Amino acid sequence: MEKRSAVVTGSTSGIGWEIARALAGNGYSLMLNGAVTGDAGEQKCVEIRKEFGVAAQFNGADLADIEQCAKLIAQADENLGRIDVLVNNAGIQHVAPIESFPVKWWDAILAINLSAAFHLMQHTLPGMRARGWGRIVNIASAHGLVGSPGKSAYVAAKHGLVGLTKVAALETAASGITCNCICPGWVKTPLVDEQIITRAASEGITVEQAQANLLRDKHPSERFTTATQIGAMVVFLCSEAADNITGAAFAMDGGWTAQ
Ligand code: NAD
Repeated sequence: MEKRSAVVTGSTSGIGWEIARALAGNGYSLMLNGAVTGDAGEQKCVEIRKEFGVAAQFNGADLADIEQCAKLIAQADENLGRIDVLVNNAGIQHVAPIESFPVKWWDAILAINLSAAFHLMQHTLPGMRARGWGRIVNIASAHGLVGSPGKSAYVAAKHGLVGLTKVAALETAASGITCNCICPGWVKTPLVDEQIITRAASEGITVEQAQANLLRDKHPSERFTTATQIGAMVVFLCSEAADNITGAAFAMDGGWTAQ
């Protein structure tokens, strides 16, 4: 396979970091992105270059800002030569009932978890179309398929991302581009650790008990999905074997949404 390149948003930690590592392990050069300092981002690039011997650069675009979204794609195009794969992974969470849900959090979650994917796709698709090849993978959630109380903004954004994925797939269906999303259940990352700690405090139980309850509530498998498994799924969706898979939403959720 010729050398390909990828932009992975929110790739300085958690799921995005493992997606970046999985792509690097398969020879992709990378543009990393995340809400960290330039030094911390560069440190992540050093780790990727050292372990996998591929090119890696960092752009700290705040994806809530439309202009910074455009600049991220422009820099990736210039520095990587082209963008073959775009993984829209960056995401944030806030949990509160609708009546007391802070509008500031609603706006931020919709901007980062949904609108950024639209803006980044808008700037990336023309190049993919011109070259007749491209892969877009959106990291949605089980919450793109079902709801949970307290997560109005997150569930709305993730359902929106599943819908956006379908439209992008239809608009690009005959152009060598595929667009799919992955819908993970619980994955043990900083985003979920925060929810486990909050649950332990509010229920007066240990963090270990809160973690077990969290899994038992939603995952019939009673096991976390791992970020490494999601990385492997992204690599598969970027492979020629997945050439005719487009517009799909893959649940990786231990059976959560099968119930
Ligand atoms: P995480 O908090 O470890 O990572 C989030 C990443 O997004 C970080 O790199 C962070 O720097 C980046 N980010 C946050 N705000 C940003 C901004 N304004 N601009 C640019 N980057 C920004 O969380 P994670 O669990 O790895 O989540 C990754 C994705 O997976 C999210 O979209 C999340 O909704 C989704 N997801 C996570 C789980 C889970 O259980 N952890 C389950 C389903 C879906």
